[in-house]
Amino acid sequence: MADTKGIMIVGEVADGKLSATATELLGAARKIAGELKQEVIAAVIGSGVGEAAKEAVAFGADKVYVIDNPMFKDYTNDGFAGALQKLNEKVHPEIILIGQTAIGMDLAPRLAFRLGTSVTLDCVGVAIDPDTKLLQKTKPVYGGNALAVYVSEARPQMATVRVKTMEPLAADASRKGEIVSFDPGLDPASIREKVVQKVKEEVVGIKLEDAGVIVCGGRGIGGAEGFDQLKELAKLLGGALGASRPPCDSGWVPTSIQIGLTGKMVAPKVYIGIALSGSSQHQAGMSGSKNIIAINKDPEANIFGISHFGVVGDYKKVVPAFMTKCKELLAK
Ligand SMILES: Cc1cc2nc3c(=O)[nH]c(=O)nc-3n(C[C@H](O)[C@H](O)[C@H](O)COP(=O)(O)OP(=O)(O)OC[C@H]3O[C@@H](n4cnc5c(N)ncnc54)[C@H](O)[C@@H]3O)c2cc1C
Repeated sequence: MADTKGIMIVGEVADGKLSATATELLGAARKIAGELKQEVIAAVIGSGVGEAAKEAVAFGADKVYVIDNPMFKDYTNDGFAGALQKLNEKVHPEIILIGQTAIGMDLAPRLAFRLGTSVTLDCVGVAIDPDTKLLQKTKPVYGGNALAVYVSEARPQMATVRVKTMEPLAADASRKGEIVSFDPGLDPASIREKVVQKVKEEVVGIKLEDAGVIVCGGRGIGGAEGFDQLKELAKLLGGALGASRPPCDSGWVPTSIQIGLTGKMVAPKVYIGIALSGSSQHQAGMSGSKNIIAINKDPEANIFGISHFGVVGDYKKVVPAFMTKCKELLAK
């Protein structure tokens, strides 16, 4: 086995720009690189991704391998896993970090298989064991009720990292890094998938994952009309509307705003959970929020166990009073 060196992140690109998740991975990789005294490498794949490669340097990469070819315009598992396999044969990284995104979740296991290694999915923490120098990969288990730490002796050590769990560095356009063009020499015929159509999800207002404030309603809201009021509160605070699973399952709100284990992972500055109990499955998607506010009529509700501020009461009374106060303060 060749000597392995370097912490490589797979940088996803959206509309020619490096994704926010990639910048978070670079932030995590920089910390690890400092401890291992190794360099941070970014693999940037797509078509027309030159600008994204420069961004990767600004966000902390020492070296960026750019795989730029129209055949990588759309994500395909065969294409991306194939290209990264070839890059691995050249670079032999010690560690590969991939985002726990729709693409990352599809790519990471197949890439790990091709590289003859293992991957730990959905990590919320990555660190170096000071004694063994192995990558410690922390992930929620048992529906988010416990955290487990995994290490692997296989190389490269691989993990997917949950969105918004790592801090990106501030972009520094004056940072120096090497940008290298890499041709994996893939035969287009080896790509068996074909993207037939792309349908963009319509988002009104701020995207849930990007929102600084999230107003999230649960089953206790009682119906679609109740969510109109929450939507108004979210708008007032410049935030986005979210929901626990029951309102989505009941068709009161679209499933695209479900937060939790089987929904979106969020970590806003302010999360306001209204009339939801705070199940472990829901917490799996929001416990990283910086300030958690709970409104629930049951003082024993689980959500109060993790909230920083709590109001015990009927949301139908609490929310209108809260909105009046917010309007008053915002008008000042
Ligand atoms: C495999 C699996 C995956 C899952 N994934 C997810 C997921 O991704 N996200 C998710 O959210 N759930 C998920 N669930 C479901 C989860 O287990 C819970 O059932 C769900 O989170 C409960 O939603 P809730 O808190 O809105 O409802 P409930 O637990 O029914 O809580 C409703 C709350 O509203 C309060 N309430 C009622 N009326 C009022 C009022 N007028 N004013 C104030 N408070 C009021 C009640 O006191 C209660 O605490 C998953 C379950 C499984 C098994």
